[in-house]
Order: sequence, then C-alpha cells, then structure tokens
Amino acid sequence: MIYDTRERQHWYDNFLRFHEDLLNIQVKNMQHLIAVISFRNLNKIDLDSRIQNGGQIITSGEILIDEKDLEHIFDSILPVLRRYSQNKKALSAFEDFYDKRKISLTEMIENVVTRDITKWNEMSQRYSIPENFLIGIGEYIAMPYLELCSEYFNKRLKNGSWLRPSCPICGSSPSMALLQEDLNERILWCHLCDTEWRFSDKVCPFCENQDLSSIKHIFPPVNSPHRIDACDKCGYFLKIIDDQLITKYPKFVIENLRTIKLEQIAINKGYKPFHFMDKNALS
Ligand SMILES: [Zn+2]
Ligand SMILES: [Zn+2]
Repeated sequence: MIYDTRERQHWYDNFLRFHEDLLNIQVKNMQHLIAVISFRNLNKIDLDSRIQNGGQIITSGEILIDEKDLEHIFDSILPVLRRYSQNKKALSAFEDFYDKRKISLTEMIENVVTRDITKWNEMSQRYSIPENFLIGIGEYIAMPYLELCSEYFNKRLKNGSWLRPSCPICGSSPSMALLQEDLNERILWCHLCDTEWRFSDKVCPFCENQDLSSIKHIFPPVNSPHRIDACDKCGYFLKIIDDQLITKYPKFVIENLRTIKLEQIAINKGYKPFHFMDKNALS
C-alpha cells in the first residue's frame, strides 16, 4: 500500500530503475541465447495450421532451452532482484531451493506458457512461496527466450493471419495497444514476448464484450498520447497510445513504463490490469 506523495514517488522511481536494470540485462541474455539455442528445431512447428486453429505458437512441450541456460538468465537477474525485491523472504527461500537444485526453472517457463493456475498453485504449496512471486520469476526468466521466439516467428507470420485477443506467440493477453482509428483496429502488444498483432478497436480483448458504452476512457491529467480503456463488464483495462497524437512509431516496452502513473489512476477507479490468475473470474 502506498500512502503519501513522497512515498509514491519513491516507489515509481524504484520501479523504473528496476525495469531499466532488468531490460539491460535481458538484452545481454538474448545475445547469449542466440548463440546457444538451435532455433532451426522450431521449423518443425506447423505454423500455418496452428495459427488457423487459433493456438499459440509456443507450447509447453516445445521449450527449446536447457535448464543451464535458464540458470544463466536467473543468475544474471538475481543481483537486480536482490536489490529491488519487495519480498526478500520469498526471494531468500527461492534462492535456497535453487542453490540445492530443488527447483526446476524449466517447469516454471512451461507454467508461464500454459498459464495453468493449478500448476502455479501446486508449485506455491510445494515451496511455500507465494504464487505471484513465482510467476514473476518465471516470467523474467522466460522473457528473453519468448522474445527471441517472437522475432523468429514474426518474420514468418503473415500480416493479418491472426486477429485474436491473445498473443499469437505465447498466448498472453495484451498490456498495451496502439489505436489506429482510421483502420478501425488496434495493434495489441504482449509484454512477455514483445509481439505486436492486429485486433479490432471495438472489442474488449479480455472478455470480448462489444458494447462500446461499457468501455470507459481514462485520460492522464496532462496532455499525452496515452489513455486507458477500461471495461465495465470485466473490470480490466488496456493502456492505449493514440496514433493521431504521436509522430513516430512507439516502442511499447518504453511506453509501458512511461504509463505506470496512468495505470495507477485506473486502479484507483476500481479497474485492474489483466492477469491470467484472475481468468476464473471471467469463466
Ligand atoms: Zn506473447
Ligand atoms: Zn472486458
């Protein structure tokens, strides 16, 4: 819980520093992975039939990354986690299991792509570590791999062959979108693998509600190309960049960090950023 303005500003500053440090390390991790992963094995995946059937491209049985390379990623981000983690107790417990080789990073990355709540629950009970902490670590170690997969497959994905609300590469829901009103569509963006794909601008990507009167627009207090579209049917929100108000194509990973205060305004109004752990609420 954040109380006063000074404390809130301190939290924002730390949040930004953490993500900047993490981004710099993940760029190096991607360079490391390019050298050690045989992406040619991904050619075995029948991309067209998977896309036509609406299935995400990366599934749990086809993770082409060794445990030792995931350890390389975790070891590289560990100093940043130690510096910024809000839950030192969970981190210390996690490190204990990790040092004794009692935790499988491969299992974690598989759980990231399946988004199976019961598997995360089971893992949380096994180690007595909160689910959201384990999911956070799992996502951080999965990101460089998923981003490389995204780069690899995006070259082969036909533009427009996927018009669904979830990410074609890893299956996650979008965190941000670029509104292209002239085309009646949005470019959705996945924060996990940095994939961008097209989708209608008139449908909530979380509950697929098409009643535009139930979508509220929330604007920042200062002039900005950003806004939030919040859905009264499901309670989730999507951060929007209006393409009429920008001069060059946005880098979503940066815009995502720049809009953290705007996100807080939506949260204060009772909306939430989407997370698959809430998915039961929609079914
Ligand atoms: Zn993705
Ligand atoms: Zn909705």
